[in-house]
Amino acid sequence: MKRVYAREEVCVGCKLCEVYCAAAHSEYPKDIVKAYLKQKTKPVPRILVEDNLSISFALQCRHCDEAPCTKACITGAMQKDLVTGIVRNDEDRCVGCWTCILACPFGAIRRDNQGHKVASKCDLCSSGADDLDAPSVPVCVQNCPNRALQFMDSILGEEE
Ligand code: SF4
Ligand code: SF4
Repeated sequence: MKRVYAREEVCVGCKLCEVYCAAAHSEYPKDIVKAYLKQKTKPVPRILVEDNLSISFALQCRHCDEAPCTKACITGAMQKDLVTGIVRNDEDRCVGCWTCILACPFGAIRRDNQGHKVASKCDLCSSGADDLDAPSVPVCVQNCPNRALQFMDSILGEEE
């Protein structure tokens, strides 16, 4: 399956991926300004840019083959789609216990404490990605100004 890979050597730490991701998963997916100004709660990005002075990179879900978060989830909210490979959280079933956060070895799940507490994670902008033959490119990848995010099958040296 195609996943998002970060290239830390060219990431400039601008955090545009966070902005586009948050907007894409808001009530105004096509309008960043409205997403940030009109939505009652602040939109939460599902990608997180880690940085210090010398290095930055974007962190998001790897959609693991044996996803520990799905095994840890106490309600069955976190599920891996066996056809597409995408790991998603069903926010209606999530009770905000954060067990999945403890289980994820990559720190790829965030707390969304606004309103109904839910675990928030990358879904590969999933409706389009459901088309296995032509998965749509996630918005973080589309909008990275320095191509520091790549949507591809695998990186060099990593088995598919
Ligand atoms: S949330 Fe973490 S454990 Fe779950 S699939 Fe993504 S990277 Fe793997
Ligand atoms: S926070 Fe939600 S998704 Fe995570 S383990 Fe608890 S119920 Fe499952």
